[in-house]
Amino acid sequence: MAWRFALMIDPLAADDPRDDVDSGFTEIDPEAPALPVGELSAQRGDGVFESIGVIDGHPQEVEAHLRRLAHSAELCDLPAHLGQWRAAVARAARTCAPGEAVIKLVLSRGVDGGPAPTAWVMAGTTADFAAARADGIRVATLDRGYAIDTPARAPWLLLDAKTLSYAVNMAAIREAQRRGADDAVFVSSDGYLLEAPTASVVLRRGDSFVTPTPQAGILHGTTQISLFSHLSAAGFATSYEMVPAAELLTADAAWLVSSVRLAAPVVAVDGHDIPVDAELTASMNDYLLSPRD
Ligand code: PLP
Repeated sequence: MAWRFALMIDPLAADDPRDDVDSGFTEIDPEAPALPVGELSAQRGDGVFESIGVIDGHPQEVEAHLRRLAHSAELCDLPAHLGQWRAAVARAARTCAPGEAVIKLVLSRGVDGGPAPTAWVMAGTTADFAAARADGIRVATLDRGYAIDTPARAPWLLLDAKTLSYAVNMAAIREAQRRGADDAVFVSSDGYLLEAPTASVVLRRGDSFVTPTPQAGILHGTTQISLFSHLSAAGFATSYEMVPAAELLTADAAWLVSSVRLAAPVVAVDGHDIPVDAELTASMNDYLLSPRD
């Protein structure tokens, strides 16, 4: 990704009673240094973020992303002024070139003992995901190291917050690549499907689509939510379940879905080919590439 636009946001300016107020923003050079060395986002990954897909200047599913940002912020005891974020996203979207782009929202705890959290929005170009969408991806299943009931017993693990601490997620992708795959799918220590390091997992069983329950300590994906509403409008059944990991191999088809790569069909699991529905995948991506609110 190449960042073309960046806007620092002053959360202390958010007390303006008008919604969507365009105040407290400072545009900065996206390639110049911008954070003090004491920033806790950089030192501890202490903060939360969102990545929003943009199609022809239209930011997709903004309200769903803002809801998840507010949820993540609440779990981390950080303030989220949604009117201010909404205005910042609209401003960033106006800078996006035609075609696909991405807007990233970052909310950090700020500098230790500092006056306020640090917040910024940036916009830029994305990688080309045409091959992943059309040809699919091979995945390796990896043990996430906790049981499906861990999130309920240990909420301080922040498993359903989109925190900036993605070192584990990136390590999992590298491990999957060492195993000859393109991406990983996490499995709980007691054998249930969870999510991919940067995507949700969706399986097809006949005319039903299923995804692991968000109660399993995973992110509730905005793309999966949107796709399920589209599939149910088309007459398919959809459900959230505790899905045994073995079902990834026996599914009629499987996808990793996320805001920027969109729907990538899974073609192989741990070296075993699984069925691919190319036509359905293409129609899912047509839908995901259409303007969505
Ligand atoms: N799960 C994880 C861990 C993610 O990082 C992401 C997206 O980045 C998702 C799921 C999918 O979320 P969304 O569809 O909102 O992009």
